[in-house]
Amino acid sequence: MAREAVTGPEAEDLTTQLANWLRLVELSGTGEVVMAKPAFSTAVERAPSEDPLTSLKESLLDCRGCGLYKGRTNLVFGEGNPASDLMFIGEGPGADEDRTGKPFVGRAGALLTRIIQAMGLERDDVYIANIVKCRPPGNRDPEPDEIAGCLPNLEKQIDIIKPRVICALGRVATQTLVGVRSGITALRGRFFEYRGIRLMPTFHPAACLRQPSNKRLVWEDIKKVMKELGLPIRGVMRNGPSKNRN
Ligand code: URA
Repeated sequence: MAREAVTGPEAEDLTTQLANWLRLVELSGTGEVVMAKPAFSTAVERAPSEDPLTSLKESLLDCRGCGLYKGRTNLVFGEGNPASDLMFIGEGPGADEDRTGKPFVGRAGALLTRIIQAMGLERDDVYIANIVKCRPPGNRDPEPDEIAGCLPNLEKQIDIIKPRVICALGRVATQTLVGVRSGITALRGRFFEYRGIRLMPTFHPAACLRQPSNKRLVWEDIKKVMKELGLPIRGVMRNGPSKNRN
C-alpha cells in the first residue's frame, strides 16, 4: 500500500523525537557521536539586516495568546546577541523580570550572569529567553495551555537566532523543548536534538540557589556546552563561577 510522505513541521517533530530517542538509547551504552565544531560566533554578519527579532517583539507587546497577559507589567521577550551561537532558555519571568521587561535579572539571573562570565563570555554575547514571556502568578509553573500558546513565539525567535547550542535551564524548559517527561536530574548533562540544534539541559539557577551542590553539576554541563562551541576551558574557569559571590 502506498504511503503519503510526511513533510513540514510533522516531519520535523518526528525527526526530533527519533533523534532524542536514539540519544536515550545511546546513553544506555553506545558511544557518542563526535561532530566537527566551527569557532564560536557572535558575528554581526549573521544578524539579518531587517531585524526580524525587533519585529517579532513588537508584534507581541499586546499579546493575549493566553491568560498570563492579565497579570503582566511587561512582556519579557528576551535579550542578547541575535547572532549568538548560544541561547539560554528558562521557564518564565519572575517578579523582577516582569517589572523590568528583561530576562533573568533577579537572584537567579545574577547566578546565570556569573555562569556566563565563567564561560569567558558576557550576557551580551549570548541570547537569553524563556518558554513563556509573561509572568505566571506567584511564580508558579506555566500551565500546558500557556506553554502551548507561547511556544510558537520562542520557536520563531530560535529560527531567527539560529544558535548552534541551546542550554535549557530547568525541568519546564527541558521537558517542553525535548518533549520528554523525565525529571531534570535524569535529563541534565547530555545533549539532545531540538530542531537540528544541540540542546543541553541543566539545572535552573534557582535550583542552584536552593541547593548549592547543584552548581558543580551545572558547571559540568556548561563545560560540555563550551566544548561543543569550541570555547577554551582553562585555569580558574575549571571550577566554575565563584562560590563567594552567591
Ligand atoms: N526564571 C526564569 O526561568 N526566567 C527568568 O527570566 C527569570 C527567572
